[in-house]
Amino acid sequence: MAQSSVIVWMIVLAFISAEVSAFAKLIDRPLGEKVGITLNKIPESLHDSEAKTVANELSETQVISVNDELAIVSQLLDRVPLIDGHNDLPHVIRLLAESRLANFNLTDLSDKTPWSSDPTSHTDIVRLRKGKVGAQFWVAYTNCKTQHNDSPQKALEQIDLIYRFIDLYSDTFQLATTAQEIEDVFGTGKIASLIGVEGGHAMGNSLSILRIFYRLGVRYMTLTHSCPTPWADNSQLDNPGQRPIHGGLSGFGEVVVQEMNRLGMMVDISHVSVATMEDVLNVSKAPVIFSHSGAFSVCNHTRNVPDHILRRLANNGGIIMVAFYNEFLSCGKSANIKDVIRQIEHIRNLIGADHIGLGGDFNGVDRVPTDLDDVSKYPNIFVELLRLGWSETDLEKLVGTNMLRVMRRVEEVKQELAFTEPIEEWIPIEDLRPEHKLCLTDYV
Ligand SMILES: [Zn+2]
Repeated sequence: MAQSSVIVWMIVLAFISAEVSAFAKLIDRPLGEKVGITLNKIPESLHDSEAKTVANELSETQVISVNDELAIVSQLLDRVPLIDGHNDLPHVIRLLAESRLANFNLTDLSDKTPWSSDPTSHTDIVRLRKGKVGAQFWVAYTNCKTQHNDSPQKALEQIDLIYRFIDLYSDTFQLATTAQEIEDVFGTGKIASLIGVEGGHAMGNSLSILRIFYRLGVRYMTLTHSCPTPWADNSQLDNPGQRPIHGGLSGFGEVVVQEMNRLGMMVDISHVSVATMEDVLNVSKAPVIFSHSGAFSVCNHTRNVPDHILRRLANNGGIIMVAFYNEFLSCGKSANIKDVIRQIEHIRNLIGADHIGLGGDFNGVDRVPTDLDDVSKYPNIFVELLRLGWSETDLEKLVGTNMLRVMRRVEEVKQELAFTEPIEEWIPIEDLRPEHKLCLTDYV
């Protein structure tokens, strides 16, 4: 045999052995773990030759899906911005560094004290990049102790902090306030940075403060945190033995939602009671969001959303962004990525793929799934879903196109309401209890 023929045969043998080893990996997969595309999808009516061609094409795709799921996910995250709905990094910077950015370098906190050992520190620039995060809602959070005290000031300080870290790390971050701006910033390779206010008490019962938040770039407000406001009930009031205060939204609470619609600010109904969810869905002219919640049918925590509300959310055109807090995922102290997948799958099975996103709640909680323990791990979720047979189109929706659609519709509603004047209503004084008024003057 000529030397050149020997080389050709060696190449052919090497190729065959590579193919065989790829199929061996396929066979080795544990039972119950599915791959993206299966060979038995060839229609029976195809002629043999056609079937063979299809089989060859499918088997090539299948080998790619087994070996290169991460590559497929990586390419997907290069073309669609991964938009996370809820990250409390500003709160942790307040707690660990008194909001002083000069005291640390946000680029890499993985080996820096006290960040490396703090159970609520999941975010830095290196890990955001590794996780291929394209857009992040940074949260200006104020805790319930500030209600009726200095909550507007604390919220403004958090917004200031978000602006300062966007400016300081301007090679990485850029402010975005619209869907188009998310896409534009993503196109430059930076992480689009959006602002959400968590806890309606931050607006100090004043539509003026709400409007100023919008002008400062705030694009959602979570109506409550772990306390009711004088105009909305929170989720803890759904716990056994608790009693609702307003039975949902008060009259002023409905006005808050109307003004948010007019401004083009998304109404976030994570943290609120079921009755408040119902009232918001009755009142809102725009799609609403759950920036960080789960499904109650999967884990019956009151922070999660019952199925009948999820169905109404689909009719509303809104989105639920699944949080990664163990106690919302598994109703226990520990969880893993399968618990996240279970939540996502339940929601997709119930209301379709058009109403799901991710709102990890990183830096806002101290227990996250073992294999999803910081912002670098998002791709693991999409790899798992690919294996379960999710199409790339559905993955794109989960990753970011659903949120872009919601934002665009909220912006359209703003345009439709452009002829309406700002609502000049004040909270009725009788809605405030004496203890709510301790820090108020009679200055009008
Ligand atoms: Zn929260």
